[in-house]
Amino acid sequence: MSGGSDPAVSRETESEKAGAKSGTATESMGGSGFNSYSSISPDDTPIGAAAHRASQVLHPGSVTLPKPAKRRMLTIANQKGGVGKTTTAVNLAAALALQGLTVLVVDLDPQGNASTALGVEHHSGVPSSYEMLIGEVTAREAIQKSPHSDRLFCIPATIDLAGAEIELVSMVAREGRLKTALADLADIDADFILIDCPPSLGLLTVNAMVAATEVLIPIQCEYYALEGVGQLLRNIELVQSHLNPALHVSTVILTMYDGRTKLADQVAEEVRKHFGDAVLRAVIPRSVKVSEAPGYGMTVLDYDPGSRGAMSYLDAGRELAARSAVAVTDGTQER
Ligand code: ATP
Ligand code: MG
Repeated sequence: MSGGSDPAVSRETESEKAGAKSGTATESMGGSGFNSYSSISPDDTPIGAAAHRASQVLHPGSVTLPKPAKRRMLTIANQKGGVGKTTTAVNLAAALALQGLTVLVVDLDPQGNASTALGVEHHSGVPSSYEMLIGEVTAREAIQKSPHSDRLFCIPATIDLAGAEIELVSMVAREGRLKTALADLADIDADFILIDCPPSLGLLTVNAMVAATEVLIPIQCEYYALEGVGQLLRNIELVQSHLNPALHVSTVILTMYDGRTKLADQVAEEVRKHFGDAVLRAVIPRSVKVSEAPGYGMTVLDYDPGSRGAMSYLDAGRELAARSAVAVTDGTQER
């Protein structure tokens, strides 16, 4: 690994500290995982506090999330680029794995960013989601274990996937190829499958929506946050009515929240008004640690487990898992 300082003890940025101080940010998070702050003495140094939180993460003790009654498959979609789809896919997966669940991330973006962050091989020629979609390899043959966790797996994406949107057009059952391929994994022990989509509503994203039951939409707390969401929802409805009746938006997550700006609050409020209970109470702060982690082939939970970014993804994972009971009662989930 390259890089200088020990990531576990390096300091948070001014922005993160400001976010941490913001009453609104803490409020938005519903106090869920940030309760862990309550045991920190106000006299603690920031480094001491981070180390304390890191030790809680690395030795969570009794923190083991309940397994969902049936496997849950979520497609992480938003055709808007750079809103935090990949960051959410890998960090949520790591958060669930750290808390006892087994998670598979399917990288369906030719950029391969999720594969990078999970530290798995994804150069051209490695069995990947591309070969799986065109039927050259099985899902089992394409799976790799992340070096950071025994419970975290990835079907990587290579640059070969870049041509898939076009190649798929002429293929038989082109919208259902991912679903068919993943059926190969019916008997493996995975509690969650998270599919990281590219920033488009093309055939790759449609394949993800046909395979999954749930859609998770990351929304960046920035200008034009809801721009394009209407189009995304219409596409989800189309898939629902023609290809996958079980599909529904189960989860919305607010990303890159900057506690110093009024705008972030306004966006959060608007999104909550729009999506109601689907929005997780845990909000992901804008954090340098989160953006640095993939550069080391890591999730933020490995890179800086005590950071606010790591804690917020742990909270989000807990909330998501707690919703399992609700999500499976519709009887549409398949193992
Ligand atoms: P694309 O549409 O290109 O696939 P995306 O929706 O997957 O993008 P990401 O790649 O996850 O978005 O994030 C976009 C950029 O923002 C990345 O550089 C990432 O490191 C950064 N980023 C994501 N979340 C955060 C955060 N909470 N704090 C700071 N930077 C973040
Ligand atoms: Mg991405």
